[in-house]
Amino acid sequence: MSGQDQNFKNLVAHCKEYGFIYQSSEVYDGLAAVYDYGPNGVLLKNSIKEYWWKSMVQMQENIVGIDSAIFMHPKTWKASGHVDAFNDPLIDNKDSKKRYRADQLVEGYCEKIEKKINKEVDKAQKRFGDAFDKVQFLATNERCVKNQEKIDTIMKRMADAMTADDMVALKDLIVELEIADPENGSKNWTDVRQFNLMFNTQLGNISGEEGKLYLRPETAQGIFVNFLNVQKTTRQKLPFGIAQIGKAFRNEIVARQFIFRMREFEQMEMQFFVQPGTQKEWYDYWKKTRLNWHQVLHAAEKLRWHDHDNLAHYADAAVDIEFQFPFGFRELEGIHSRTDFDLKAHQELSGRKIQYFDPKTNESYVPFVVETSIGLDRMFLATMATALVNEQVPGQDDPNNTRDVLKLHPALSPIKCAILPLKKNDENIVAKAKEVFNALKGSIQCMYDDTGSIGKLYRRQDAIGTPFCLTIDFDSLEDNCVTVRDRDTLVQERIPIAELRAKLLPRVDMGGLLAKL
Ligand code: ATP
Repeated sequence: MSGQDQNFKNLVAHCKEYGFIYQSSEVYDGLAAVYDYGPNGVLLKNSIKEYWWKSMVQMQENIVGIDSAIFMHPKTWKASGHVDAFNDPLIDNKDSKKRYRADQLVEGYCEKIEKKINKEVDKAQKRFGDAFDKVQFLATNERCVKNQEKIDTIMKRMADAMTADDMVALKDLIVELEIADPENGSKNWTDVRQFNLMFNTQLGNISGEEGKLYLRPETAQGIFVNFLNVQKTTRQKLPFGIAQIGKAFRNEIVARQFIFRMREFEQMEMQFFVQPGTQKEWYDYWKKTRLNWHQVLHAAEKLRWHDHDNLAHYADAAVDIEFQFPFGFRELEGIHSRTDFDLKAHQELSGRKIQYFDPKTNESYVPFVVETSIGLDRMFLATMATALVNEQVPGQDDPNNTRDVLKLHPALSPIKCAILPLKKNDENIVAKAKEVFNALKGSIQCMYDDTGSIGKLYRRQDAIGTPFCLTIDFDSLEDNCVTVRDRDTLVQERIPIAELRAKLLPRVDMGGLLAKL
């Protein structure tokens, strides 16, 4: 197993062991590509939502939020193109009987070539040390240049086939590249067929096609159909945005890579409505703004742009922000210039006028839309992957003395303060520790824990990313102070109980993170 695969395995195991993520319905051997968030997971997820929501809604004068229903009128999905046009190309292997997305098989093939490039880079980096110039190396090393050209040619052929809906060309590409089933190495493929990823169900009292309901595959349409409601009730003037966080459902064929690709997941989307002709300017604005949001949490080299070669039918420009997950660079967020496609389609199918009267120009028109769309679960995975480190314990000489520590930004940490009585059998210490818990619980997410030795309790809090451990000892009974241990430096300071709230709150508050934007 490669180091990368081992890291990913460790991350998945850590998520389970420390109550972040469990497989759904595990007692029944699980349901593929569906996951539950545990006690620490839900707190971290809520913090990520808060970071997104506050940056998108609270900090913007012209963006408001909604929470629309998962079920929508079935015509919504006709108008959006999901019923007819949003099909994924599927291919079956006749020997393994496994089904794959044809585009993902081709992408997987290119990833293998990319791994070869990365190996060359690693080797050269070791050889040249500090003098190594990665950009120059990639541009001049013959093997890297050849491999990159190969990737570009394959991806271009795939994009052309997908744009033209040419499933025969896609199959030919798979055969020509001799792509084998990852399960059993067989190259015995069926033709490529189109498959719709929407889950459907039936409305209670209507039978047949008429009563067919879909679980929404994206949250965006709930925003489009509410455009007029929101604009009229909030009196927003263009440009303005509507934000929403909510569940989406896709019957993904290949469910792998943990919470990266799920069948039930959460999206954080914002549709920004603009005057036609200004979309390019806003597209650039949101690209910059969103990258900055990520860079507050993640090192710049972990993020990169990926322009779409194969534009969806509704877009005039689209780009992904890719993140370096433990299994390689993958899409984390999409920024799409969606033109007036959606509003116009709803206008046509509903027969209602969905337009904006512009007081500046005295005209009515259908606004254009620039959207930012990020998967909350993917953001969760990115955050966990960056935060989890195994390091030598600070201040200890022995390199074998290591710890797992989740270096989350304190504003995101599930638990901000752990309250640890040094002796769980001493009535006075326990009473003092409870007093500390009660003093903080209204404003800071705390955890009271007396289930082990202090050393064990510290390690456990490190593993879930708690920035501060507060220890209550015999001295606390005399001086009314507690020892506050910092997760990253392990520096300890004595702080009077009466000052804890004022001292700790600014260090764990979301405001600290938002101030960096
Ligand atoms: P992919 O190409 O990975 O299938 P997509 O381009 O279909 O993703 P969008 O429709 O642009 O994704 O959705 C916006 C965001 O929603 C994505 O950037 C991703 O973060 C998230 N997302 C999409 N599908 C899933 C899924 N099955 N599980 C988890 N998150 C998802």
